Amino acid sequence: MSGDARRASKFPLRLDELGKRNPTAPAAKRAQKPTSVSRGPVPKLHATAVAARAMLRPQQLVEHAHVDASRRVTPSGLGLDSVEMRRRMSQRLTQAGVGHKAVLNAMATVPRHLFVDAALVAQAYEDTSLPIGHGQTISKPSVVARMIELLMGGANARRTLSLGQTLEIGTGCGYQAAVLSLLARQVISVERLRPLHDRARELLASLRSDNLRLVYGDGMRGHPPNAPYDSIIAAAGGDALPTEWLDQLAVGGRLVSPVRQAGSERQLLMVVDRTEQGFEHNACEAVHFVPLKSGLVAG
Ligand code: SAH
Repeated sequence: MSGDARRASKFPLRLDELGKRNPTAPAAKRAQKPTSVSRGPVPKLHATAVAARAMLRPQQLVEHAHVDASRRVTPSGLGLDSVEMRRRMSQRLTQAGVGHKAVLNAMATVPRHLFVDAALVAQAYEDTSLPIGHGQTISKPSVVARMIELLMGGANARRTLSLGQTLEIGTGCGYQAAVLSLLARQVISVERLRPLHDRARELLASLRSDNLRLVYGDGMRGHPPNAPYDSIIAAAGGDALPTEWLDQLAVGGRLVSPVRQAGSERQLLMVVDRTEQGFEHNACEAVHFVPLKSGLVAG
């Protein structure tokens, strides 16, 4: 293997390797907590000492710089240390009622801080939605987990233990698409705002999720070339569910989407299952998503 090939296989890490590699990272790496985000207990003394020794090793800093550069983020100090923060986020999701192990694992794997603005990185693992530019927001982790858990309850997903062929409407920053890609056979994610589509493409390229395709298009029409879908999830809510989405849902498939209630600003999370006989609609809790809009925005 050439030097280049070796580097290519190591950097950037594959998305599904992030969770596996980090727990085995040296204690020194895990012990380094950025001051701006350290909310947990004071690190154990021996870990602090190891971290201090590690700081004297220039090759370690070079390695970190290389990882940061490959991810094209402003070095925030979170980097690989965010594994512990995600584990804690996942624990909080369990307390909030998310019970699906694979969903919790996926949430604990995707580095959410890479998807938010550098200035907001300290809040990346709090249960809050955050602005991603162009008037849009990255959804709260608890809402992402809840919606994906609902999708996992679809007939095909229960049978195959996978989201299968999946359509996401509203790529946004690409965070939810990355989580979905860990649970699906293939994810097609559609975004109508070109700048967000382009940025998500850049971010997700560095995470190398091979089964994820980003499409710049109007998601109101779904995405016929890859239909039918076992799972359809929308991150934006309109007045009604577009008929194209229902048409592109496979038998045994499930759709989860916010829908605005007639005559009000209130949105409800709708779950639609397609059976041999037709469609079953179920309304769940009230939610608050950005509006589903038609047409493309190029710049
Ligand atoms: N899942 C996203 C959340 C993005 S917010 C994340 O993890 O960041 C919802 C997104 O839906 C916005 O980016 C918005 O531009 C997009 N959107 C709204 N209407 C759309 C449409 N018709 N087609 C595609 N994307 C749409």
